[in-house]
Amino acid sequence: MRRPLTCRSLLLLITCVFPAAVVLAQDPTSGRQGAPASGRGQGAGRGMTIPAGESCPPGMAEIRPRSCMAPQFPAPSIVDYRPHSTLVTPVHMVKSAKYPAIDYHGHPQGLLNSPESVAGLVAQLDTLNVRMMVAVDNMSGDRIVRAMAAVNANPKSKDRIRVLAGIDFRNVGPGWAEKAVAQLEADVKAGAVGVGEIAKSLGLTIKKADGTRLKIDDPELDPVWDACARLGIPVFIHTADPQEFFEAMDLNNERWLEIALFGDRRYPSDRFPKFEALMTERDNLFRKHSKTTFVAAHLGWHANNLARLGKMFDAMPNLYAEVGAVLYDIGRQPRGAHDFFVKYQDRILFGKDAYYPEEYPYYWRVFETADEYFDYYRGYHAFWKLYGVDLPDAVLKKLYFQNALRITKALPQAGWPK
Ligand SMILES: [Zn+2]
Repeated sequence: MRRPLTCRSLLLLITCVFPAAVVLAQDPTSGRQGAPASGRGQGAGRGMTIPAGESCPPGMAEIRPRSCMAPQFPAPSIVDYRPHSTLVTPVHMVKSAKYPAIDYHGHPQGLLNSPESVAGLVAQLDTLNVRMMVAVDNMSGDRIVRAMAAVNANPKSKDRIRVLAGIDFRNVGPGWAEKAVAQLEADVKAGAVGVGEIAKSLGLTIKKADGTRLKIDDPELDPVWDACARLGIPVFIHTADPQEFFEAMDLNNERWLEIALFGDRRYPSDRFPKFEALMTERDNLFRKHSKTTFVAAHLGWHANNLARLGKMFDAMPNLYAEVGAVLYDIGRQPRGAHDFFVKYQDRILFGKDAYYPEEYPYYWRVFETADEYFDYYRGYHAFWKLYGVDLPDAVLKKLYFQNALRITKALPQAGWPK
């Protein structure tokens, strides 16, 4: 009963101190609709009323039902407004993961070039309790040979890094598949443990030899997916991007700042396929190749609609998903995400994406604690705070390493906790 009491006291205060504001708040006829409301007191000259169902005009906030008011000072831009939370709640920072983790979405890039840089990477991973990184930089041919030589040069690093093989999707046409499968077989011999990261350019931008867009479910690619099933290797695939990147860049877009910062994250429909068209092609691929194991990066961009991803898991037993770079959606729905991660505990893999060691602890905190309302590591992704999902230990172990080991047979399998 605390809240109504507070509201009533607040209204009383306003009635006594700001009579003009109450006129605005309680009497929609006090000003002509859509016109500035006049009156004495705080809001004089800065307020107006609006018809039911409409929003306040730019620069004004709805201070009471159908009553808008402009601030007394110029409003800061969203880039500059950085309010500090005054909320005091228990804080549990988690520097290193509770169980050894496999980062299934690693982009170490140049760090695999020499035994020295590999040693530096492994030392950083040690501080985070990341026992293994799966490098998904689309390596192929000599690059895999050199990277695995650098990894194997040191007994301390030889079981810590594995790589996925890239597929070159340029010039798909007659003869392409035979060459791609032969290269993949060579790459697996050289040490690749899977395929990926298949980039968003598949579907979004890559053209076939005949000049048409290469669709994700193009039948000319089928021999490659079949080869993955035959070789027993998973396919790690990133399709499209967050759905807001495909929508109008207006002030209702949750990712306005991000797409304003990065021009290559805008996909207007006159130049790119629609988000749903890409999802349909992707799901056709998963369904058609039911013997191939697919891992959808970024929870398939459905972290904002976990029920949708759940239906996909139910319909496609060959599908897994990875959590990189969508922590902002997991951490804003702690109860729903908790239940989802428990229900689909055999289907979700940990991965980080862009390699910044200082960002991993945010993942540990979201997955392992029940902390409330804390900052995310990249403000432009999300204008909200995160909450801990507080996963049980058995689920954490599956998320952190057991699922990755199960679907990727060529990962070093010894020495993990039970
Ligand atoms: Zn990636």
